Amino acid sequence: MKIICIGRNYVDHAKELKNPVPKQPVFFMKPDSALVLKNRPFFYPEFSSDVHHELELVIRIQRLGRSIPEKFASRYYNEVALGVDFTARDLQAEMKKKGLPWEIAKGFDYSAPVSDFVPLPDPTGKGALDFYLDLNGKTVQKGTSNDMIFSFDQIVAYVSRFMTLKTGDLIFTGTPAGVGPVQINDHLECYLQGRKMMDFYVK
Ligand code: MG
Repeated sequence: MKIICIGRNYVDHAKELKNPVPKQPVFFMKPDSALVLKNRPFFYPEFSSDVHHELELVIRIQRLGRSIPEKFASRYYNEVALGVDFTARDLQAEMKKKGLPWEIAKGFDYSAPVSDFVPLPDPTGKGALDFYLDLNGKTVQKGTSNDMIFSFDQIVAYVSRFMTLKTGDLIFTGTPAGVGPVQINDHLECYLQGRKMMDFYVK
């Protein structure tokens, strides 16, 4: 199983990090060892002092495919979850400055908490999905899939040009604005369509 993550997929988030709005999807990967399920805690890594939350819609691939045409892409996923793409922003900034890959900032242990999956309300993948993150009871990130620069279908088509997608692969589809640091003992609650999907602590 692999975890593919799309970067800069919301204009307001690209701007908050002073990144250009991409003309093609930008993606990177996390290893399966990053995955955290069932509301287990996120353990703050000792090598960073600036870990940020990025709340994202996550789709799960349900059949094998490569070079998938965009018009058929919605057949390759039918469930959605919420995930947090935890990012060691200090390490990422160093790597970006040197033009080096981001793995140490993005792929570390516990960096990918994911909720249970639910069926997509609109199987074409085009219906709006609204989601938000409460940090210690206060809403800090709020997004809707309507604001994605690249749709689920465009992402699946693009990624599958380069690598085969397999059943069970996860795709984090990018974060809206409002990313920020977390601290030990913080409480994160993630909501999709008004329903609580994930609830966990930073330890
Ligand atoms: Mg992200």
